[in-house]
Amino acid sequence: MAGFLKILFRNLLQGPSTDPYPLGETFSPERIRGTVRIDPELCMGCGMCRYSCTAGAIHIKHRADGTGYTISVWQDSCCLCASCRHYCPTGAVSIDNDWHHAHEDADKFGMLEQQTITYEPCSHCGTPIRPIPLPIARRLYARNPELDPDIIRHLCPKCRQIEDAKRNACHLPQHGETQAHDDSVAASAAPVKK
Ligand code: SF4
Ligand code: SF4
Repeated sequence: MAGFLKILFRNLLQGPSTDPYPLGETFSPERIRGTVRIDPELCMGCGMCRYSCTAGAIHIKHRADGTGYTISVWQDSCCLCASCRHYCPTGAVSIDNDWHHAHEDADKFGMLEQQTITYEPCSHCGTPIRPIPLPIARRLYARNPELDPDIIRHLCPKCRQIEDAKRNACHLPQHGETQAHDDSVAASAAPVKK
């Protein structure tokens, strides 16, 4: 009895040791999986996240006029498995620690992480494209210091191919050089007189 009274008085003096949530605030562990976020600067619309999402929580809707797309993550379906984050090739998916998802039933279709990406015209031919995100372009062209990733990323795949072909084209010998080259080949191939 004395032990119980001791604990009772101590608790009365110290107050509750639990957080008052939901009447007050509580803490959020830094690494808790709370909400999936999409970075519109990094998303390329490749669909890998949608493909890997077993919960079917990700939707990518391309505009009919081909000018961009909207990517949505429905939080009520998301089970926070982090598969989308794992497989996203550009690092556009992150999961923050905001777990405050309680909502009225009427609000359920608003529980979305949604980003709309608008295509830009290719800087050579004008075809609408999703430019390569700058950090990705820097990584891709890290071994080509002669190229400016910030310029190359605004080209469509076809124009990039043409630029690559121009850059890698062989140096074709001029007429005089061809003649000299043929003579030297003929001389080296001539039979040696014994
Ligand atoms: S979030 Fe990542 S995986 Fe999903 S479409 Fe964008 S780039 Fe692709
Ligand atoms: S965390 Fe898992 S369930 Fe949620 S959107 Fe990503 S892949 Fe789908």
